[in-house]
Amino acid sequence: MLPIESLADAAAELATTFRGQLLRPSDPGYEDARKVHNGLVDKRPALIARCAGVADVAGALELARNLGLEVAIRGGGHNVAGRATVDGGVVLDLSLMKGIRVDPQRKTAWAQGGVTWGELNRETQLHGLAVTGGVVSSTGIAGLTLGGGLGWLMGKYGLALDNLLAVELVTADGKVVQASKQQEPDLFWALRGGGGNFGIATGFEYALHPVGPTVVGGPIVHPIESARPLLEFFRDHTRSLPDEQTLFAALMHAPDGSGTPVAALITCHCGPIDAAERALRPIKAFASPLMDAIGRMPYTQLNGMLDAAFPKGAFNYWKTNFLSTLNDAAIDTMIDCFARCPTPMGQLLIEHFHGEVARIDPSDTAFPHRREGYNFLVLGQWTQPEGTDACIAWTRETYERMQPFFAAGRYLNYLDGDEPGDPVAAAYDSNYPRLQRIKARYDPTNVFHMNLNIRPQP
Ligand SMILES: Cc1cc2nc3c(=O)[nH]c(=O)nc-3n(C[C@H](O)[C@H](O)[C@H](O)COP(=O)(O)OP(=O)(O)OC[C@H]3O[C@@H](n4cnc5c(N)ncnc54)[C@H](O)[C@@H]3O)c2cc1C
Repeated sequence: MLPIESLADAAAELATTFRGQLLRPSDPGYEDARKVHNGLVDKRPALIARCAGVADVAGALELARNLGLEVAIRGGGHNVAGRATVDGGVVLDLSLMKGIRVDPQRKTAWAQGGVTWGELNRETQLHGLAVTGGVVSSTGIAGLTLGGGLGWLMGKYGLALDNLLAVELVTADGKVVQASKQQEPDLFWALRGGGGNFGIATGFEYALHPVGPTVVGGPIVHPIESARPLLEFFRDHTRSLPDEQTLFAALMHAPDGSGTPVAALITCHCGPIDAAERALRPIKAFASPLMDAIGRMPYTQLNGMLDAAFPKGAFNYWKTNFLSTLNDAAIDTMIDCFARCPTPMGQLLIEHFHGEVARIDPSDTAFPHRREGYNFLVLGQWTQPEGTDACIAWTRETYERMQPFFAAGRYLNYLDGDEPGDPVAAAYDSNYPRLQRIKARYDPTNVFHMNLNIRPQP
């Protein structure tokens, strides 16, 4: 056990140069700073280093290493398993690092590690530009990009990580490196999918694309009794989507707060308005929706339309897997499971993958899931502590019942913390040995292990 004075002394020394905030458990602001998105996560770090720049990150990492304390890295704090924080260790919290610079001529953006998708979209959209990002605007660009980054633009422009041009990283030995296709190419390959295993990403450079500012999209909601024909329609319709359109399906509860179960499609078409409206006609014409909010809207609004459904502090327990098939039996099982959902915030979501995201070779980046198809999510979410057992049990049971329809792949960014076996090695598939070799080079003693851990090759 670390003598409390050692940390106090080291923190006091660091504080003489640190530009951000160093928070210990007795400091004002600590209680708030230790919270992450998932209210189930209740960890008490010994020190939260709220870094204001790269030198703060390097200084706080050095402190943790000198004292032999565990290190967790926090970007947006959205990870459902709470990997952005650690009991008794040091949290390197980048959430104050909000710098963003857009170069509209080169169509690129540099953003620091504490930026969220809402913040980045706001700046890039000033120039009618965007990069694929998360569908909830408060999610951090850092964790999401390093682990994949699927969102409304992925059919046309691939994942967030497919658009990375460079990453600035503080490595385990405290060095600041730039990784790109030209500099440290192996590291750059690993960073595109390998999560927080290789260091602390302090800055990201993205390629941007012309998007909006007005796009066509939104949700369309049907009565739960239409769930079967709606999911069949979704299955058939996704076979011929243009790259510009991304389409998700959900069994969820009415957004009006009534708790009424509904079936919904949610979409975005990022192409020219006329083409978008033509492409979305079949969805709008299907059956008799209870609510049709698909229409023209600013891209920034579309990217925030799901925010209210995922409030900070709600309890979350998720299980997800790519599907091998969305056949009739899978649809029936989903409907049956959703009928038992014990929480009005719970939902079953299907994210459709096609277009650019599915054209990239699985070995081009560390992210291997490049098949056209469906990603299935059981989103257990609730707000009352007494609902915890029932919601976790429902999530597990639903996941279990959907097993016959699962493919081998799982999207690591969604994994919860209680997975049996070695889900990380399994998820990276044939990319895992190369990731282990690169991990051994950049983090041989596994300093960065509060993540979906890639074990360094012995
Ligand atoms: C409501 C909600 C919506 C979501 N929507 C999407 C979505 O649309 N698309 C999608 O792809 N995913 C989505 N996710 C999953 C999301 O990608 C992951 O939760 C991701 O980890 C969030 O990144 P963060 O920076 O907010 O997370 P944090 O919890 O801060 O970090 C998670 C992990 O990422 C690593 N990390 C974070 N910052 C850094 C850094 N600067 N340097 C190195 N490593 C770092 C660390 O290992 C850390 O433990 C969603 C999650 C939630 C809760």
